[in-house]
Amino acid sequence: MQRDTYVVKRSFLQWLHKRSNPGLIVNLCFLVVLVFSTLLTWREVVVLEGAYISSQRNHLETVANSLDRQLQFSVDKLLFFRNGMRDALQTPLSFAVLHEAVSRFNSLRNIPSWQLAVDKNRTLPINGVSDAFVDKTTLLNRDEDLLNNELSAALELGYLLRLGSANVRREARVVYVSRAGFYLATDTAGQVNDIVPRYYQLVTQQWFTGQSERENRARAVRWFITPPSTWNGNEQAITASVPIYYEHHWYGVVAMDFTLKTMKRLLRDATSDRTEGEYQLYDTRLNLIASSEPDANLINRFDQPEQAQIASAIESDTQGSLRLGSRFISWERLDHFDGVALRVHTLHDGVRGDFGSISIVLALLWALFTAMLLISWLVIRRTVSNMYALQHTLQWQAWHDPLTRLNNRGALFERAKILAKKCEQQGLPFSVVQIDLDHFKSINDRFGHQAGDKVLSHAGGLIASALRPNDVAGRVGGEEFCVVLPGVALPEAVDIAERIRAHINSKEILVKKSVTVRVSASLGVSCALEKGNYQFEQLQSIADARLYQAKQRGRNQVVHDDHDRK
Ligand code: GH3
Ligand code: MG
Ligand code: MG
Repeated sequence: MQRDTYVVKRSFLQWLHKRSNPGLIVNLCFLVVLVFSTLLTWREVVVLEGAYISSQRNHLETVANSLDRQLQFSVDKLLFFRNGMRDALQTPLSFAVLHEAVSRFNSLRNIPSWQLAVDKNRTLPINGVSDAFVDKTTLLNRDEDLLNNELSAALELGYLLRLGSANVRREARVVYVSRAGFYLATDTAGQVNDIVPRYYQLVTQQWFTGQSERENRARAVRWFITPPSTWNGNEQAITASVPIYYEHHWYGVVAMDFTLKTMKRLLRDATSDRTEGEYQLYDTRLNLIASSEPDANLINRFDQPEQAQIASAIESDTQGSLRLGSRFISWERLDHFDGVALRVHTLHDGVRGDFGSISIVLALLWALFTAMLLISWLVIRRTVSNMYALQHTLQWQAWHDPLTRLNNRGALFERAKILAKKCEQQGLPFSVVQIDLDHFKSINDRFGHQAGDKVLSHAGGLIASALRPNDVAGRVGGEEFCVVLPGVALPEAVDIAERIRAHINSKEILVKKSVTVRVSASLGVSCALEKGNYQFEQLQSIADARLYQAKQRGRNQVVHDDHDRK
């Protein structure tokens, strides 16, 4: 088993070595490292983004909860007033003062406007309009059977309203507006001269008309934006109102007004310990009610398409987040207000925050790592390609003779032995040609060593050009060459040798400026089939002996037998 793994490993390494292009492997390795480091950074970014989003939501949730807590107090109070009125309707108190007040009403009911006060220090006065006013308005109705009981209950409610609204930190005004042509308000105790326009104004407000059976089937608390009017200081207000029903009869509406300043203060209280980002409060129609930003110019505004995006997000869920350009918006619906709390976190806020600095460090680290990776890639790439080129040169030099560019002696012997063995195994002929230039020493002597080198190089080129791709030629001595011809029998080898000889002798070689020489060579040929001997050294030695014969016989010729013709 272990041996198998070893073999697999070895053959893999061999395969790699054979196929390996070091440049490609280096590229691949660096690419893998780059991809992994980028993936790792990306993963970090994704985790960081998740943490950022939940941190944004947490911030908003804390603010929304705090706002809700504050608003709940007011909503609870509103419901308390409603319950108080219902109780009073259900079980009327039989105090003489109340009876007396109710009977006083009967003498006032036809006057255009009137005020019915019991004790201004204990309860709120009832301000009313005439029967005629009630008759001409369809939404209003004086039901004689219920009227006396309602008046008595309203006086009781006045007591609660006055008491419950003594602390006016939140609500600007609390009113009970009856459909039977009268109202009680915490802000109108002493005034009597503008009752008709006031009552008219109250019963035409949306927070009143919107509480009819048809408009508010749930009979729950609803929130409205009230336009500015002279009665609320010419300021826009937010009004929470709840209808009063008893035994299926709609008596009227209890409402609380909050100024925008109050809403702003509530938001500021809820966001007092938060420094980063802006918090905003919107109603469900995305009217901005308050912002935590004290400077009105710095409030984040949204254009039409952005508002549409926020609106569609708010419609589908109770909380969430979305990205609008470079701003990150998280939002949450409030439980005790008909609207949403919104947190706007700009890129600028983000950069200054914790997540911003972590992201910047992460990006810098990635950039640094990538830059270092690129630089080391360049250096290693260059080193590898230099080494690769050097290896090629050294390998070539180890096997070749630089002057003639033929195989050197060692390489020729090694390749010749392998070829001889192959031919012997396959039963093919195998021939060897030994070549020696004639009177070479005299070329050196006459024209100098450099001229001799030129002739050698030229001769090498001529020998190589006369061969087939499978033949091997080498320089085996000073001006001695050897040619190995696998698969070639003696007669054909002699032909090749003759061709080489003719080639060498056919051309004038330019050895110096305007000096040419014609050289000749003597060649000896041997073949393995002569004696069935494939030993290269022996075949070469036979060829060498025949070369000597060629020299003896007068040079510039090919000898392929051992007969001495002298
Ligand atoms: P022959 O073979 O015809 O009998 O005469 P030869 O002059 O060629 O004989 P010899 O073998 O004595 O001479 C060989 C000469 O080749 C000796 C040496 O100066 C020269 N020689 C050997 N190697 C080189 C070389 O690399 N460059 C040059 N220029 N000459 C070389
Ligand atoms: Mg010679
Ligand atoms: Mg020689």
